[in-house]
Amino acid sequence: MKKFDVAIAGGGVIGGAIAMELAREGLRVGVFDRQQPGQEASWASAGILSPAPENPGMIAMVEMGKASFARYPEFVARVEEISGKSTGFRPKGTLEALFSNDTKTELSTIIALHHGLGLKAEPLRAEDARELEPALSGEVKGAVLRPEEASIDNRALTAAVLEAAQRSGAEIFSGCGARAIWREGNGCKGLVLQNEKIEAQWTIIAAGCFSAAIEGIAPYAPVRPAKGQMVALRADDLKMERVLWSEKIYLVPRNDGRILAGATVEYAGFDKRTTAGGIEKVLSAAIDLAPGLADARIEETWAGLRPDSPDHLPILGPTDIDGLLMATGHFRSGILLTPITARLIREWITEQRASVDWDRFSPLRFQSAAEGSAHRAPA
Ligand SMILES: Cc1cc2nc3c(=O)[nH]c(=O)nc-3n(C[C@H](O)[C@H](O)[C@H](O)COP(=O)(O)OP(=O)(O)OC[C@H]3O[C@@H](n4cnc5c(N)ncnc54)[C@H](O)[C@@H]3O)c2cc1C
Repeated sequence: MKKFDVAIAGGGVIGGAIAMELAREGLRVGVFDRQQPGQEASWASAGILSPAPENPGMIAMVEMGKASFARYPEFVARVEEISGKSTGFRPKGTLEALFSNDTKTELSTIIALHHGLGLKAEPLRAEDARELEPALSGEVKGAVLRPEEASIDNRALTAAVLEAAQRSGAEIFSGCGARAIWREGNGCKGLVLQNEKIEAQWTIIAAGCFSAAIEGIAPYAPVRPAKGQMVALRADDLKMERVLWSEKIYLVPRNDGRILAGATVEYAGFDKRTTAGGIEKVLSAAIDLAPGLADARIEETWAGLRPDSPDHLPILGPTDIDGLLMATGHFRSGILLTPITARLIREWITEQRASVDWDRFSPLRFQSAAEGSAHRAPA
């Protein structure tokens, strides 16, 4: 029987980053993925690094997003150094374009909200926005510049994180899906794979939107897939430095000249097919925001499944089963939240404490809602 200090179910960017952190602490770490690691949401993502809330429900996540974002430059430097691979980190800011006729009111509301949350944001007149980003539509009426935000090539990042985890000593196993947790009494003794058991002092569930399918996990991580369809475009004559947003779309320039456009949010089960309607929606919103994209070549289309939770917030930390932790439910922000997630899990395991307030994200919050009872103390 294989024996580890830590067994991680899921080798996406979250499982990989946790493995790297813990292996660097000298722990024996095994990552078990049901397929080739790094091919799900972490591959399909857009890689925007923005702690700003997309809607009022996401305000609860801002502090954690800021803490994670602040760690990004150091995280990227470490991953690149250990793996020897580039991650395509672009700390060039983001720009949100506004189309409404009442831009003045909208701008002052957005700027006040950002400043209240300690986020840097500057109002721009339409002509100033177009001077910075000439690809923007002439219909844009104003814009918000968030100069400190960034993006990263999530496919490159995920590959680099997995390589860095391995080079730090973690073992990564492909084609080894977890069927269940290995539970004995109130303790978790490891993972049950298809044909073997893996023994571990600590077991971490990081299987993205598939986590709830692992027997014993649904009460702690009732996640479901939220499909996002994406398009990669190439437009040789179009200059784009920053991530551009509108209410309907984001455009993400990559270092290799591609521009990603996305994404739909659909609750369609585990179906990862792209559809004519989904891609049409993405393309028409992309062209509304940057009309020059009408001439762009379509290089690739794909869809991925975000791990969404009932309150759309991540699910992080210890459960009431000894030795069992969750690191999932990152929904639309898992790339942003990777450094802080890895750090929190490392702190829980090596120090049995966390330096960031995580209570809001506890895996016990769904159980207590279902039972109408108070939280039990985490193991
Ligand atoms: C279209 C799209 C756009 C996005 N844009 C952004 C963005 O701009 N910024 C941002 O921060 N986030 C974004 N996200 C969200 C982000 O990509 C995810 O939150 C993040 O990648 C989740 O990482 P993960 O490692 O938890 O999950 P995944 O990457 O899905 O990895 C889960 C892993 O678990 C494995 N697995 C599944 N079942 C089992 C099992 N039973 N046993 C073992 N292994 C198993 C899978 O094979 C997979 O490798 C986007 C997501 C999508 C789909």
